[in-house]
Amino acid sequence: MDFQLNDEQKMLVELAARMGREEFAPKAARWDRSHEYPHENVAALRRAGLLGMTIPKKFGGPERPLIDVVLAIEQIARHCGVTARIVVETNMGALGCVMAYGTEAQQREIARRVLEEGDKPAIGMTEPGAGTDLTALKTTAVERGGGYVINGSKHWITGGGISRTNLIFARILDRNGVDQGIGGILVDLGTPGFTIGRVEDAMGLRGIPEAELVFRNCEVPAANLVVRDPKDGFKMLMNGYNAQRIGASAVALGIAQGAHDLALGYMEQREAFGKKLKDLQGLDWMMAEGEIKLEAARLLVYRAACNARLLPNNVMLPQMREASIAKAYTGHASFEVVSESLQMFGAAGYSRDLPLERMLRDVRMFQIGGGTTQAQLNMIARSLFPAR
Ligand SMILES: Cc1cc2nc3c(=O)[nH]c(=O)nc-3n(C[C@H](O)[C@H](O)[C@H](O)COP(=O)(O)OP(=O)(O)OC[C@H]3O[C@@H](n4cnc5c(N)ncnc54)[C@H](O)[C@@H]3O)c2cc1C
Repeated sequence: MDFQLNDEQKMLVELAARMGREEFAPKAARWDRSHEYPHENVAALRRAGLLGMTIPKKFGGPERPLIDVVLAIEQIARHCGVTARIVVETNMGALGCVMAYGTEAQQREIARRVLEEGDKPAIGMTEPGAGTDLTALKTTAVERGGGYVINGSKHWITGGGISRTNLIFARILDRNGVDQGIGGILVDLGTPGFTIGRVEDAMGLRGIPEAELVFRNCEVPAANLVVRDPKDGFKMLMNGYNAQRIGASAVALGIAQGAHDLALGYMEQREAFGKKLKDLQGLDWMMAEGEIKLEAARLLVYRAACNARLLPNNVMLPQMREASIAKAYTGHASFEVVSESLQMFGAAGYSRDLPLERMLRDVRMFQIGGGTTQAQLNMIARSLFPAR
């Protein structure tokens, strides 16, 4: 076991930290207030080679291991959660599912779009009647002619209306109407029959739209089907999604580290009762507790990334149990760290003049999106009682 970063990883961390500090931090409040998508940050990430880091060499990517992506995400999230989430979705999520289980033509095209266009693929699983209980989804893709006809809707889809590539989870029916189980199918923005509905007025991470995707007799070619396996299709898609959980955990960790750092800096300056805040016992213990939470979260996230198993194409998928443990712990620990960091600032922390309140709203998401904390606990509990 080796806890040291190699030289290449140190350089990557330095690059991401510098970009976060100099380019992304000054604009982070803008995306929150205007709901604008940070296109200029995406361009900067692309130029720096931070999009599509996991893409295999044979598709033009650098084929970096998952842990490298996690390191970069964490540094960027210290300064801008929205931008860090874009790094997650251009390295994991739908991209991971397609790289793990798609056809070579699909893999080549999704890689090209990420690397050349900065496209952030969206993943459409959740429906109004199917959230944690995803198997209740009602969207169908029915085989007809040379392709599939999709009907249904998705909501809370990150990047809906921005993302050109959309991986949609649907119940696949063959030409005789026989249910083939849940599969994944690619739908391009602009395909007739695919429209964007309601855009959520979300609490945090407001620079990326969370949108409803509506499909009415939307026809796509058969070549767009990513997974169709009546027995294992759903399991495969959820496996492919595990990497996203590690990425999301790295964003939460980075936001929490950013807030913690701000609080440490403030405690060196602010005085009360003739002492600096850092010299008031109780406050320094709060920060020590926060430090423990951050270190524990970091170890869990890094372990899940390092232990990811290698698939063909050198695609890395974390183990479900390790990913769930990392996400469940990091989700709530990061929220506590940001809340306690905000507390150090007193009233100033509660003002929109400082980034703490935005960080608190942003970090709260990671106990919900990508599978709630309770969903992770269910998966961990299942691993404890396999025969149940
Ligand atoms: C900012 C944001 C971005 C998102 N992005 C995407 C996206 O890009 N793509 C996508 O497909 N989805 C996305 N989602 C949706 C997200 O994955 C779902 O919100 C999540 O899976 C929970 O589903 P739900 O909201 O329907 O809650 P529900 O499933 O209705 O759950 C309600 C509550 O009950 C609990 N619960 C449910 N079942 C159980 C159980 N068996 N045991 C114990 N507790 C349970 C849940 O933990 C939760 O607390 C996003 C959500 C947010 C907030």
